[in-house]
Amino acid sequence: MKKDITQLTKEEIKNFCLDNGIKSYVSSQVFSWLWNKSCSSFSDMSNVSLKDRSIFDKEFFINDLIVEEEEESTDGTIKTKFKLFDNNCIEGVLIPKNKRMTACISSQVGCSLSCSFCATGTLGLTRNLTASEIYKQVVYISKKCLEKYDEPLTNIVFMGMGEPLLNYKNVLRSIHFITTDEGLGMSYKRITLSTSGISKMIRKLADDNVKVNLALSLHAANENLRKKIMPIGKSNSLEEIRDSLKYYFSKTKKKVTYEYILLRDVNDSIEDAQELFLYTKHLNSKVNIIEYNQVEELNFKKSSYEKTEKFINYLSKKGVNVSLRRSRGKDINAACGQLANKN
Ligand code: SAH
Ligand code: SF4
Repeated sequence: MKKDITQLTKEEIKNFCLDNGIKSYVSSQVFSWLWNKSCSSFSDMSNVSLKDRSIFDKEFFINDLIVEEEEESTDGTIKTKFKLFDNNCIEGVLIPKNKRMTACISSQVGCSLSCSFCATGTLGLTRNLTASEIYKQVVYISKKCLEKYDEPLTNIVFMGMGEPLLNYKNVLRSIHFITTDEGLGMSYKRITLSTSGISKMIRKLADDNVKVNLALSLHAANENLRKKIMPIGKSNSLEEIRDSLKYYFSKTKKKVTYEYILLRDVNDSIEDAQELFLYTKHLNSKVNIIEYNQVEELNFKKSSYEKTEKFINYLSKKGVNVSLRRSRGKDINAACGQLANKN
């Protein structure tokens, strides 16, 4: 079986060239076709000789995404279902908001963490995405954005399917290509990585000095409640998570964002707001209150309008930097936590 060439480093491609009688500069050309130009076929590599292309073609395939389906919401949000080379499917979303154009991308096929409110969590984990499968979602959505809205992509959020910190190596490699001239050359500042809170990996991110914006899916500042709705909380206590976030901040000086979905009668009381305030006040941070997107087979509802108001007012009065994030693309199930390849 042919191997996926996008899994190889530049060095490895160079070694392949040397072993196969291909001039070493060709490796740079091929690498640039693969990443900078997101080429999907060796036959398009016009500055590589036909002979060399065929040597590559015999040994490798180029991992590419196939658009399986696309839906557009009444609010302009576009959800794309991509088929992978092994027939697994993932989803990526383009969310336009004035001049802010955000790509919401997946990092895994499914997710192993089973948060009780999340559609992706019901799928279980099939596999990690490769760096190229992550990167190519960005490339595709970025092109789509220009075509459709005549605007460049401005932001990238790892808030699609999967837990990015459990696919660390490939997520980092994708970020490398998103941010360097070998790929898209976008700024780190435009990337937000959302995590359910794996303290060990948050520390690693800090040690590796990856200066992305970090969002923590908190959803409960009460240990027992959090363990109940987010099983990952059983092995990562709130205290451990907070310590790791402090560490991240101390190393990167990047403000952390806490995400908090308001679930009706679960975590939306004033006591819950109080706990949230006490938990988040230790760190220079923002709190994003998120409107829950109902998932058919799950038993949660979004909080009422009144309770949402009260919750946010309480935090505001306490001086918390809080904002409400309304759901986008609801009519096509493109909103956070609704990505589960329906059909
Ligand atoms: N696994 C990572 C990133 C993907 S989930 C994480 O959990 O952070 C992206 C965000 O969507 C998380 O904050 C998650 O808690 C939230 N989310 C999940 N299901 C949701 C739903 N039904 N409605 C609103 N947000 C949801
Ligand atoms: Fe996985 Fe995030 Fe969904 Fe939890 S919220 S199941 S971590 S994708």
